Amino acid sequence: MIILHRPTIVTSEKVETGSIVIEDAIIKDVLYADAEDYDFRMSRLLAANPEAEVRELAGKHVIAGGIDAHVHFREPGLTHKADIYTESRAALAGGVTTVFDMPNTNPPTVTAEALKDKISIAEEKSAVKTGFHIGATNSNAEMICRLVREGDVETGIRPEDIAGVKVFMGSSTGNMLVDEKSTLDMLFSIKEKPVLVHCEDEQTIKENLQAAIEKYGEEIPFEEHENIRSRKACIKSSIRALELAIKHGTRLVLCHISTKEEIEMVRAAKSNNPDIIAETSCNYLWFSNEDYTRLGSRAKCNPSVKTPADREALREALATGLIDTIGSDHAPHLPSEKDANYTKAPSGLPSIQQTLPVLLTIAAEDEIPLTRIASVFSEKASDLYRLDRGRIAKGQKADLVVFDYEKEFTVKAEDQKSKCGWTPYEGVTLKGVIEEVYINGQKKQ
Ligand SMILES: [Zn+2]
Repeated sequence: MIILHRPTIVTSEKVETGSIVIEDAIIKDVLYADAEDYDFRMSRLLAANPEAEVRELAGKHVIAGGIDAHVHFREPGLTHKADIYTESRAALAGGVTTVFDMPNTNPPTVTAEALKDKISIAEEKSAVKTGFHIGATNSNAEMICRLVREGDVETGIRPEDIAGVKVFMGSSTGNMLVDEKSTLDMLFSIKEKPVLVHCEDEQTIKENLQAAIEKYGEEIPFEEHENIRSRKACIKSSIRALELAIKHGTRLVLCHISTKEEIEMVRAAKSNNPDIIAETSCNYLWFSNEDYTRLGSRAKCNPSVKTPADREALREALATGLIDTIGSDHAPHLPSEKDANYTKAPSGLPSIQQTLPVLLTIAAEDEIPLTRIASVFSEKASDLYRLDRGRIAKGQKADLVVFDYEKEFTVKAEDQKSKCGWTPYEGVTLKGVIEEVYINGQKKQ
């Protein structure tokens, strides 16, 4: 038995001093110090369990381990950038204890066989609980429907081996671009799993890119990323996804929302379909188009970071509860790949190690209650993916993060566990130092 004694416990319901009792990988009990019988129950517990390891955590905070449903760990096929071994350790260092990996690996995760391969790699190498989304194409939608309902006898893939279905609605992810109407209808009819959608309209982006090439030739300034992967491209594609989700009652996750218009669209759409989930990433809460001057390609991600006004609107949506989940969209590329001109530098930022400290820092800056952070960091995702972890409550798996909210630290490249060895947050001072991470009641960090 382990007792986390008297930290401040952070959940979506309250932020309160208490003690967490862990036994056999499970949270056996949560005792809050504001309860009248707290002292009595604690002394009885300690008397009955003299062998218990009591960790004195007064002054520290404990939050449930993060559930990050949007990561790109690059394995198989792109392991020169990152792999499940290294990136899962970056997750752990950031207090993220469950991840769901996206299908744009090589080969892409668009078949039961590819999914099976990834599952076995993760079993062998991952430091955190790791699951996978399957990727939709114009030709595999029927297979996906069968897989999420019945599984696959040949590979032994069961419906519960699939976290969600990822749909790239008009993004540049090659063969995973889904644009046929009948395919989209079939995918949005899936009720068994969340359907996660990357919304950027390909045609709009192509036209914008062409115009930029005509204007700048080879040397397009990175500031243009916001005009090329424009707000219009996001809005156009998100309208379509939200309409389909309303029509079919889909558990839609609108991934990495980056504009204030999409926030308003989601607000309206939720009144028709309350199962719609709004995801954003810390990148959109922290950076804006003003950061290209400083970061260049190291702020280039898809969708693009937008204006400070968009960032403000996203932070407000985080505060009010309109944003449901935070996916890091952790997407490592090597510095040598990033240090190229606009058309060659790949989009994507490594960030998973910073998610929790960035959220804690924003909460302090904007006076957002920590209850909201508990909700977006793990609890809402726990509900969405129907997990038995991600909440500090009796009977849940003991995935927990201890942090010191009084302490600040400056992000350094050399502290990054990601294989790519850099972070766009380098040099930033953040609040909240992660001190211990538990998975299934075992201290992993
Ligand atoms: Zn992504």
